[in-house]
Amino acid sequence: MIIEQQAKELSSDVTEVATKIEILCPNCSRDVDEAELTAKRCNDCGADLSTPEQNVAVAVTSVPVIGITW
Ligand SMILES: [Zn+2]
Repeated sequence: MIIEQQAKELSSDVTEVATKIEILCPNCSRDVDEAELTAKRCNDCGADLSTPEQNVAVAVTSVPVIGITW
């Protein structure tokens, strides 16, 4: 399962970056879905998913070009 969080502007000069969290089974590294996560059990290998592996990727979508003076 991939949880994506959009970048949002917290204030005029603070922008929270967009992140992408991939949740994987710690045992077989398969992408788990929400139902498996709720059941805390991997459908594939039966591993406990109470502490799933999370890959956090920071997606830089747009970097505002403010405050740059030449
Ligand atoms: Zn598994």
